[in-house]
Amino acid sequence: MKKYVYYFGKGKAEGRAEMKELLGGKGANLAEMARLGIPCPAGFTITTEVCTYYYEHKRTYPASLQKEVGVALKRIESVMGMKFGNSANPLLVSVRSGARRSMPGMMETVLNVGLCAATIPGLIAKTKNERFVWDAYRRLIMMYSDVVMEKAAGIEAAEGKGIRVQLDKLLHELKIGKGYASDADISAEDLKDLCERFKVRVKEVLGKEFPDDPREQLWGGIGAVFSSWNGKRAVSYRRIERIPDEWGTAVSVQAMVFGNMGDSSATGVAFSRNPATGENKFFGEWLVNAQGEDVVAGIRTPNPLNESTKSEHNRHLPSLETAMPGLYKELDHIRVKLEKHFKDMQDIEFTIQEGRLWMLQCRVGKRTGTAALNMAMDMLGEKLIDQKTAVNRLTPDQLDELLHPIVDPKAEKASEPVAGGLPAGPGGACGQIVFTAADAVEWVKQGKTVLLVREETNPEDVEGMRAAEGILTARGGMTSHAALVARGWGKCCIVGCGSLHIDAHARTMTVGEKVYHEGDWFTLNGTRGYVYAGKLAMVSSTENPRFVHFMKIVDKFRTIGVRTNADTPDDAQKARQFGAEGIGLFRTEHMFYGKHSEQPLFILRKMIISRTEGERRAALAELYPFVKKDIKDTLAVMDGLPVTVRLLDPPLHEFVPNSMEERKKLASALGITVEDIAKRADALHESNPMMGHRGVRLGITYPEITEMQVRAILESAAELKAEGKTVLPEIMVPVVGIKNELDHQRAIVDAIYAEVCAKYSLKKIDYLYGTMIEIPRAALTADKIAETAEFFSFGTNDLTQMGFGFSRDDIGGFVPDYLKLKTLPADPFQILDQEGIGQLVRIAIEKGRATRPKLKIGICGEHGGEPSSVAFCYRVGMNYVSCSPFRVPIARLAAAQAAIADGARAATGTKPAPKKTRKVTKKATPRKRK
Ligand code: ADP
Ligand code: MG
Ligand code: MG
Repeated sequence: MKKYVYYFGKGKAEGRAEMKELLGGKGANLAEMARLGIPCPAGFTITTEVCTYYYEHKRTYPASLQKEVGVALKRIESVMGMKFGNSANPLLVSVRSGARRSMPGMMETVLNVGLCAATIPGLIAKTKNERFVWDAYRRLIMMYSDVVMEKAAGIEAAEGKGIRVQLDKLLHELKIGKGYASDADISAEDLKDLCERFKVRVKEVLGKEFPDDPREQLWGGIGAVFSSWNGKRAVSYRRIERIPDEWGTAVSVQAMVFGNMGDSSATGVAFSRNPATGENKFFGEWLVNAQGEDVVAGIRTPNPLNESTKSEHNRHLPSLETAMPGLYKELDHIRVKLEKHFKDMQDIEFTIQEGRLWMLQCRVGKRTGTAALNMAMDMLGEKLIDQKTAVNRLTPDQLDELLHPIVDPKAEKASEPVAGGLPAGPGGACGQIVFTAADAVEWVKQGKTVLLVREETNPEDVEGMRAAEGILTARGGMTSHAALVARGWGKCCIVGCGSLHIDAHARTMTVGEKVYHEGDWFTLNGTRGYVYAGKLAMVSSTENPRFVHFMKIVDKFRTIGVRTNADTPDDAQKARQFGAEGIGLFRTEHMFYGKHSEQPLFILRKMIISRTEGERRAALAELYPFVKKDIKDTLAVMDGLPVTVRLLDPPLHEFVPNSMEERKKLASALGITVEDIAKRADALHESNPMMGHRGVRLGITYPEITEMQVRAILESAAELKAEGKTVLPEIMVPVVGIKNELDHQRAIVDAIYAEVCAKYSLKKIDYLYGTMIEIPRAALTADKIAETAEFFSFGTNDLTQMGFGFSRDDIGGFVPDYLKLKTLPADPFQILDQEGIGQLVRIAIEKGRATRPKLKIGICGEHGGEPSSVAFCYRVGMNYVSCSPFRVPIARLAAAQAAIADGARAATGTKPAPKKTRKVTKKATPRKRK
């Protein structure tokens, strides 16, 4: 027969910490504490399987449950020396919820179960504390009527009309009526009367008597906890945290201990280390003469746990360390014991009943990114954990948090966002809003900090985006222009914030009814996508030597390379500092946007408007020095590391000027009319530019464009070589779908190569020739393509766009609905679709390496910095991932964690885990995996 109930108490338990799936986190850890001999009140846990059964059988229980509960209750009674429902020596219990993963405050708990007409006098006689008993009873009535009789019964009370609020009001009226200042003034007699009034009100409001039978209370409580699994709060929390509905909750029934029996009683919550900073100091709060919920409920300002962690707010209050030194010592011992055992920071609940300490809960504590880093490094130093464990202690998100200034969580907690959008660029930003890029630049020049607010951004806004502290757009998805640019710079950015109505002309923005004006202060949380009106405090991420040390350890476990996508020598430099091992994507077209772009852009425009090859060649010759300088400077910064230079990618018409003024300038320079320009621009117009005349297609129609770029790359390499630098350029052709395209361009490269070698009298210049794999056809014919290509780099943005047939710039119209309806599990432009697009990747790798076993393979799409996608890239055997500079550490961590997980999987076979850690070699050799 299946076992549904697991006992724990006094040195013994049927459950264990590893049984979280069955017993829930709380139940499993209570069992573990009991096993460790830590004092916790005896109890038992009803398994999550009963929860599943309950929902599958019209809210009924397995037949054997009642008997098992009876047996376990007997064991509690004998260990605690009290009897449930007994009038002389009554045992009271709590009925507590607990899922596999903690869902704080989302489900219900009922305390003091077992108090009734029959047991109240006995408890009074035993405790000689009438006030305490009536107080416990009124708490039971409040909790039980709310949780069991109202919520679990499916009664939806109107706002402010719930039974709990009504009873609270009665309590409040009593205090007012009697002129009491605090709860402590309420007498036993008052409470007794109040309980009677409570019961009358419960009957009036809910139409049922408050149950006076302990067993009815117990089963009512158990049922209420199970039904709270499907309560509104719990369901929406599960959606956000992606906790599966099938998990269910366990129910723990536990002997009550009381922190509210007088001045030698107390209750508290604590963390074995500081969860905000990671500091290795016992940190917590406690209240004398109070019951568990009081500390969290914030009715009174709680006291500090010890002297060394006092703050401005509680400096005047007594610490447990001084008030109850013996008990504090005992608690501190338990803290150490728990950390030694669980090897991680613990979040604990305790209660002191008349001078005796009881532990009520322990679990791994939540922490900030800073705390996670400090704790991992401290615990490593203390030899509490090994290096692998330390590497796994930081989530990539927490690392991200460390790299950017963020909105002060305390300030954020106290405010309501006015709008929400997609979290496109991490960290926080605070500034005055402006509506044009030009204003952003201007205001910043005047020494202000600004947030640039746009309907959406385009390349012409880049300067303003650079100047702004943060960027906010009403439209666009995670790979929209604004998002790409912002992430690349590690700049805070929120896109697709649909509830904003921007009137750039009037310089206002409307959210709902409220109108905001240019110059108003706003704060953005780009990590979560929240927009706040006003100025919220920020906390800055400090340069941290521990971070550097941590990353060194991370790299010990990493087996694939991490490169960066960088378009300027500055970005390249920054990425090197973050540990990039090369550039995976250098976009030459970037020199035509933003700072210092005026001149090259003007020449480029001349080239675009040219009608003859002669005109075009002349313009290209003029452009050449600019292109070469950019490439050469970047290659120089990356001395010793590979740099993948992508040939011109975007459709040319993107660069045709729209303003009349610009067109006039261009016309006069070319000696043609403005009408000529308009005609030429019209001719360049495409109805579907993303799939139009771009990438390699440009190089095939205008070979001279490819010639110029290849010359710039190879001459830079030749000159730097002469200067004693080691340069490893990789020429990458974009938008390839056909092997012949690549051959066509290869011929040009070969010709230029011969010319450059001759010019510099060199026998050879090291370089690679390869392609992006971003068109499904390229993936499917990768064996052919690899005959010419020496490397592949997956452009997963375009591969996703073309694989799904989703236009990257237009997903705002439908992908949000797909996510809401769960038609898609995630935005495929953020998280690589391993099921579909991932197949194209696998096929291309397999076919490519079948032709060329040493084929070097990487990824340069936005996914290269997304942790789950990085793990995928590792598993399919890529040599490296490439991402924006600020994501480099995140990719390094994700890659190391993927390798560690792989090792753990391999080790679960018969073979023991390899002792030695794998070292990363700078030149990653392709690994064949199936
Ligand atoms: P949550 O998961 O919301 O924290 P808990 O089950 O931990 O809910 O219980 C809520 C409060 O009641 C906590 O402060 C806890 O310490 C206290 N509590 C629960 N069971 C008991 C008990 N048997 N004796 C004393 N206090 C208890
Ligand atoms: Mg708790
Ligand atoms: Mg592309």
